[in-house]
Amino acid sequence: MWFLRCLILSLALATACWTGANETAAQTPVKVVVSFSILADMVSNVGGDAVQVTALVGPNGDAHVYQPSPADARAIAAANLIVLNGWGFEGWMPRLIDATGFTGVRVVATDGLSPLPRVTRRTQAPTPDPHAWQDVQNAMVYVRNIARGLSEADPERRDDYRVRADAYLAKLRDLDAWVVAQLSAIPEAKRKVVTAHDAFEYFGRRYGVTFDAPIGLSTDSEAAAKDMARLIQQIRAENIRAVFIENMSDPRLLRQLASESGAAIGGKLYSDALSDPAGPAASYIELMQHNVRELVVALAKR
Ligand code: ZN
Repeated sequence: MWFLRCLILSLALATACWTGANETAAQTPVKVVVSFSILADMVSNVGGDAVQVTALVGPNGDAHVYQPSPADARAIAAANLIVLNGWGFEGWMPRLIDATGFTGVRVVATDGLSPLPRVTRRTQAPTPDPHAWQDVQNAMVYVRNIARGLSEADPERRDDYRVRADAYLAKLRDLDAWVVAQLSAIPEAKRKVVTAHDAFEYFGRRYGVTFDAPIGLSTDSEAAAKDMARLIQQIRAENIRAVFIENMSDPRLLRQLASESGAAIGGKLYSDALSDPAGPAASYIELMQHNVRELVVALAKR
């Protein structure tokens, strides 16, 4: 009898322990810290309810020139997974991660892609252009890298991440085809655009649009007078009707460029950050849709 009572008690305790452990696993989200808002949206799409995502640089923020805070270091130290773009986009982040002693899983979203090299005034040597997400096919590589990182950080939910990633990748495949169709309807000679900084080279290569900008790959430089003069001349010579401001860059330079060249402000493009949740580019897919609609409206006018 004593033995039986003990056995029942042990079984009850074991069951309680097992149930408790399982509930904890199901309720504890994987803590993910990403450098900027576009990556946060991608992680949320793959991770769903299983992840808690923190973007160090939020909507409309400029990750090129961000100054990390002590709260950012604490978030990284507490994270299970870190996702960054790489290629010098958030040059402050690798140092920040090292300073926190972070030991979790680290994903560089551009892993496996080949960068477009650009010569900048500052370096005079080719540096990788970090804005790879502006080509949807590259964004699909980001998503696969994120799914792999989540599965490594949280292997129990590996299958969920795969299913969610596949569903999101299918939407991105449709998005890519839509962008191709929208822009191919515009005659090639008209597909010329001026923006604030060089953030759209990948978009241009994939979708057949020529972009130019008064400042280079990063927003931490100022426009040189000769670059402004060259662009003004080019806008007039090539009959470029519209220049676009960006959500995360100072619009004054572009307004000056527009007034001196006679071009119109074509609209606002979302380059390096999402809009706030109520805005027109609250997700990566909406960002691409918004940019393409703005471009098509402005370019079709010419
Ligand atoms: Zn940029």
